[in-house]
Amino acid sequence: MRAIRFERAGGPDVLALVEGADPEVGPGEVLVDVEHAGVNFIDTYHRSGLYPVPLPGGIGLEGVGVVRAVGADVVDRHPGQRVAWADRLGSYADVVTVPAGRTVVVPDGLDPATACALMLQGMTAHYLVASTFPLGEGQTALVYAAAGGVGRLLVQLAAQRGARVLACTSTEEKAAAVRALGAAETIPYRDVDVAARVRELTDGVGADVVYDSVGAATWAASLAAARPRGTVVFYGNASGPVPPLDLQELARHGSLFTTRPRLGDHVVTTEELTWRAGVLFDLAAAGRLDVRIHGHRPLSGAAAAQTELESGTTSGKLLLDPAA
Ligand code: NDP
Repeated sequence: MRAIRFERAGGPDVLALVEGADPEVGPGEVLVDVEHAGVNFIDTYHRSGLYPVPLPGGIGLEGVGVVRAVGADVVDRHPGQRVAWADRLGSYADVVTVPAGRTVVVPDGLDPATACALMLQGMTAHYLVASTFPLGEGQTALVYAAAGGVGRLLVQLAAQRGARVLACTSTEEKAAAVRALGAAETIPYRDVDVAARVRELTDGVGADVVYDSVGAATWAASLAAARPRGTVVFYGNASGPVPPLDLQELARHGSLFTTRPRLGDHVVTTEELTWRAGVLFDLAAAGRLDVRIHGHRPLSGAAAAQTELESGTTSGKLLLDPAA
């Protein structure tokens, strides 16, 4: 097998391509030939040490591929089936073992790259609009990094629920892209007073919910942009983590609610995982989700791919293709 591994936390140069024997499939697992591994921001946090992982070790959580073999006790997966997953550390590889219950079956006819794009980023967008703050008709949602991997899907799912999406992007090109996906308004968030602009757009009220994935650079504006008794969801750290928060800030901004959710807590059971992925697969199969693949890179280009994601220049899903 070929896989990306690292021995110490650091910059992209700590990632190395190594070769070794294929893994043995254990009880309850499937052995999968990986077609695409997803590159996600959380992989950069694992690499940098912001979220420590056991070292030396593999990297990457998400992938799609074809089952080569199944372990003892596995009854509902079989060789030749295409499956996808979102929480198998070590997924930047050409072959992996995954617990069968942490995989979902990719329906025939759904492009594997699309299925991969819908796993970690798609299910995150889904839990944000369906569970963290169940968005309803006519509510206003402020979405940061709206043209990113999670962001593009979040804009679409929020708009489909009837919400009015105010989308923050760094460039006009990204703004045009998210308007086409259903954003009602776009905000060049790095150049304007976001809270003031949100008040202008909401008759002075503020947003019902703020989805902030940028973190350090935007958290204060996010609190100021929410309406009294609104909800601010801090779900990412693209610019660095949110500093410790003084709870009095929530009072000062109008009895706000806030949370720091993780995907792992929203796909706890196989049933929940299957539900969220299934909703997204159905929407994509029906042509109701615009899933953009930003690009395909070879496995040996993992470090460069992470650098590309961290540069903020991608829009949509970045994939590693072990066969390339
Ligand atoms: P994106 O494709 O959204 O890329 C990150 C985007 O963040 C960039 O494109 C850029 O958009 C914006 N950004 C703002 N500041 C910076 C900065 N300093 N450096 C780099 N980018 C910056 O990535 P993902 O879709 O993979 O992830 C988006 C966020 O969602 C991440 O913060 C990630 O941690 C989080 N996440 C959280 C999960 C959870 O369950 N809590 C699960 C999955 C992802 P722009 O140019 O518009 O500013």
